[in-house]
Amino acid sequence: MEFPNSTDVLVVGGGVAGLTAATFTARAGLDTLVVNDGESILNRNAHLENIPGFPAGVNARLFGDLLDEQASRNDVTQREGRVVSIERTDEANGAETEHDADGEDAWFVASVETDGTVETVRTRFIVAASWSDADYLDELDVTIRDAGSKRYVDVDECGRTSVEGVYAAGRLTEKYHQAVVAAGHGAEVALTLIHDSDVAYYHDWVTPEGYFTDREREVPPGCEEIDAEERSRREQESREVMREYFADPHPEPQRTHPSLVDDELGRLDE
Ligand SMILES: Cc1cc2nc3c(=O)[nH]c(=O)nc-3n(C[C@H](O)[C@H](O)[C@H](O)COP(=O)(O)OP(=O)(O)OC[C@H]3O[C@@H](n4cnc5c(N)ncnc54)[C@H](O)[C@@H]3O)c2cc1C
Repeated sequence: MEFPNSTDVLVVGGGVAGLTAATFTARAGLDTLVVNDGESILNRNAHLENIPGFPAGVNARLFGDLLDEQASRNDVTQREGRVVSIERTDEANGAETEHDADGEDAWFVASVETDGTVETVRTRFIVAASWSDADYLDELDVTIRDAGSKRYVDVDECGRTSVEGVYAAGRLTEKYHQAVVAAGHGAEVALTLIHDSDVAYYHDWVTPEGYFTDREREVPPGCEEIDAEERSRREQESREVMREYFADPHPEPQRTHPSLVDDELGRLDE
């Protein structure tokens, strides 16, 4: 599938943190592209029992599918590929350059490798959510802490790295190794990015009709008021979607640590 030439936000890594961050930036109206290579490490989990909202737990691969679907429904573009390097654009380096309106504000150009072919994507913002690869950030001089075989990206308390326009989220930033923490961090980092951008924003809230307007307040940017009919339509859709997802056992095999079985993804032969 073709890559877009440019985007507002490039999220590197379509795992828990990346897909959550992308859902927030896309809902705020920023063109968002997630580039993912491989699988979330959560796919190795045998039954996910501490993620909020699932009282009897949930198959971790199904949970990943739900994050995926949620991102797509919120207009996130997703592509497979490995981000191998990111450079600053000439514009970011202060040069006067001729360019199309498309990608005009891009500060970065990312190289993405898919099946031996390299394509480039111009972007204004980057969210690195690519546990456990930070090597593609080296050319940008993002501050990274080397810890043996692992590399952790340094971020401030809101997810900004040492380079303006570059953010990082999830385990890659040395957050606790839990899915809910990665998701929450993804959301927090996305909100920071949105506030740093020129998007007018208050909160990402859906409220009943009149919640603001009946108090003679404008609906704040980022918020939406919906009437009873629309609320009921959305609830119905949500029930149908979830029923379908939970109708059958997840088809993908259980994963384990790849060093334990002769399968590059660690799939168990059950
Ligand atoms: C065996 C096991 C069991 C676990 N069980 C639980 C549990 O019960 N409960 C819980 O809360 N947590 C559990 N975890 C932890 C949880 O899986 C992680 O904390 C969480 O997935 C981290 O989210 P993340 O988005 O930072 O990384 P990930 O979800 O791993 O996502 C990172 C994504 O980035 C991709 N990527 C990497 N480099 C690149 C690149 N250069 N370009 C493009 N894409 C790239 C990766 O392939 C991956 O898809 C478990 C982990 C393991 C290993």
